[in-house]
Amino acid sequence: TGKFFVGGNWKCNGTRDSITKLVADLNDAKLETDVDVVVAPPYIYIDQVKQSLTDRIEISAQNSWIGKGGAFTGEISVEQLVDIGCKWVILGHSERRHIIGEDDQFIGKKAAYALSQNLKMKAFADSISNWTDVVIAYEPVWAIGTGKVATPQQAQEVHLAVRDWLKKNVSAEVASSTRIIYGGSVNGNNSSELAKQEDIDGFLVGGASLKGPEFAVIVNSVT
Ligand code: 13P
Repeated sequence: TGKFFVGGNWKCNGTRDSITKLVADLNDAKLETDVDVVVAPPYIYIDQVKQSLTDRIEISAQNSWIGKGGAFTGEISVEQLVDIGCKWVILGHSERRHIIGEDDQFIGKKAAYALSQNLKMKAFADSISNWTDVVIAYEPVWAIGTGKVATPQQAQEVHLAVRDWLKKNVSAEVASSTRIIYGGSVNGNNSSELAKQEDIDGFLVGGASLKGPEFAVIVNSVT
């Protein structure tokens, strides 16, 4: 089911200095070739990361505006992300739903617009007509930033349920080709057991993605 995919969601963390160090560590790391690796810095550091990070690792934004840019104070458009070399965007993260108040409809609009401009996605939405550029992340909220990781069996059960949902509601082809990745307290010690599960196609890593060597261990846990 697709190439193993590991994303690092840096969330609202980092300074120019700490990101310089993180990029240097990522540039030094030996990464398995058969894994898609993507990192998502805060908007204001995307350009710094793009200039300094190896091309081996692609760059994602953590959010995007729902449509074309214009008079939307404080927002960043998909076109601007594409312009500075961003290939991906994370949409529908539970932190944006629960803390910022984004709902399914708003996220669905963002997803459709981002895909229309060729930005790939880690998201889930009804409004998707072309699934080839979509990666779905399952992140149980109780596991995010808590140190309480789902057991491999728990995660596998949900990933399989998501895949079955895709099969029934989209198509068998989309169900088997769409990558479903797990997020929530993934670290260098628990990633390889999780990666062995049949329906876990990668990870979306928060805290542990801020440490280059540990992130590399997670990337390399592909089985
Ligand atoms: P943690 O890995 O810090 O639990 O965060 C997971 C997450 O929300 C990634 O998007």
